[in-house]
Amino acid sequence: MTDLQTNLTKLNGYLARFRTQGILNLIDGQDHAGDNRFETRSPTDNSLICTVAKGSAADIDAAAQAAKSAFPAWRDMPAAERKQILIRIADLIEQRAEEIALCECWDTGQAIRFMSKAALRGAANFRFFADKVASARDGHHLPSPTLMNITTRKPIGPVGVITPWNTPFMLSTWKIAPALAAGCTVVHKPAEFSPLTARILAEIAHEAGLPNGVWNLVNGMGEDAGRALTEHPDIKAIAFVGESSTGSMIMKQGADTLKRVHFELGGKNPVVVFADADLERAMDAAVFMIYSLNGERCTSSSRLLIEDSIADEFLSKLAARVDRIRVGHPLDPATEIGPLIHPVHLEKVCGYFDIARTDGATIAAGGKRVGDNGCFVRPTLFTHATANMRVAQEEVFGPVLTAIRFKNEDQAIEIANGTQYGLTGYIWTNDLTRALRFSDQIEAGMVWVNSENVRHLPTPFGGTKASGIGRDGGDWSFDFYMETKHIGFALGDHRIPKLGVSQ
Ligand code: NAD
Repeated sequence: MTDLQTNLTKLNGYLARFRTQGILNLIDGQDHAGDNRFETRSPTDNSLICTVAKGSAADIDAAAQAAKSAFPAWRDMPAAERKQILIRIADLIEQRAEEIALCECWDTGQAIRFMSKAALRGAANFRFFADKVASARDGHHLPSPTLMNITTRKPIGPVGVITPWNTPFMLSTWKIAPALAAGCTVVHKPAEFSPLTARILAEIAHEAGLPNGVWNLVNGMGEDAGRALTEHPDIKAIAFVGESSTGSMIMKQGADTLKRVHFELGGKNPVVVFADADLERAMDAAVFMIYSLNGERCTSSSRLLIEDSIADEFLSKLAARVDRIRVGHPLDPATEIGPLIHPVHLEKVCGYFDIARTDGATIAAGGKRVGDNGCFVRPTLFTHATANMRVAQEEVFGPVLTAIRFKNEDQAIEIANGTQYGLTGYIWTNDLTRALRFSDQIEAGMVWVNSENVRHLPTPFGGTKASGIGRDGGDWSFDFYMETKHIGFALGDHRIPKLGVSQ
């Protein structure tokens, strides 16, 4: 059997139980089938995977009540015990890594060569935050002449986590692990296009000994289950990953209950290549950052800013490289790009081929669908683009790169900063002073110099402008999931102003 056939056989084994009973919600440790269902289909061939419980506002309310009841005991559990549970979750993720990877690929269309590592990254997130449980409440000592001032942190309470369909497993662990480490309880609403691995993850958490009600899973649509979560008075904060326009809606929905929000939103990230850079490595990184993960990646380098003097040669080599990228079955280890998540998204991405042509850009590679069964598209490169074109401004969220030429550094920074987004920037130059200057001026939450995006868990992750609010990673995650409290102790009998004592 080929690796593809082996993977398909294993996948069928893992999916059997979902085909029989569908994906159920998990509220207060109990399965809930819900009154209604929706279907999840594989973008590989649009075949039905299984049905999914379609959570309602009532299901969200039940989940929020469970999270509220479970909160005091989880908050007060000794750190060492909470840490052990998180470590057990990491161990079980590793044990089920193959199942997670195969299900994620089939549900999302992501290629197995990338997803086989995504499950392990999810386990690493739990291990990292398990190690931080003991220090989560740490504060500062800020003495004044009259007071000993200290700060401490307390978990904010039950929180809502709303995740998107791109790498859903990894992103769910990335949000939920720090919430649990902080002592919060969770209601998770995964994306409707990719519900499979969120269910596996919640099962793992319970198998690891997480008390009932600490982690509740409610599937459903954004406009009903998602909305109800953001409006629920017992949910103290919403950690959201998704589109900028959805973030804006969530902010409005959460206004009446004064929700704290943490947003990881869209991007139109520039990779800026100067003539003095190591051009071979710059090419490798630019190709990797837009064409891996089907280009469905918030940190993708979707705009290539290329210095005029090297543009012709660089772009012709790049187009040849893009033409050689292998599009194929997500479970085939040779595949580099699998199908896009959903027919609706395929249509959106393909719509940009006409938009590019109409606006005057050239399609130097790709620009077409592959086959008519499944959501496959050729990786695409637009050249002769200018900074104001829609393909240079809007997030396509597919394997689509827009190349724009620049004449000098000033023009490069103007183009780099000339979008509504500000998530990441990638700079390729061997001029140290320019690298420092450029990375200081670029409007982005994260910048890599002579590197692709290499995630290091202690570093802050997040965007500026329309790309987000707040930071994840390291101790920054706790700023969101916890309240900081100041306590002042008098050191002696300092003077207290006296009112109402005059004769
Ligand atoms: P989306 O905004 O359409 O959906 C995300 C989630 O929000 C889903 O679970 C959806 O059901 C829910 N939702 C939709 N409407 C809602 C509402 N009114 N109230 C509450 N919840 C609602 O995003 P998507 O298409 O699933 O994901 C792709 C987007 O996510 C891209 O823009 C991408 O850049 C972004 N993203 C950002 C990061 C980051 O770290 N900055 C990471 C991954 C993805």
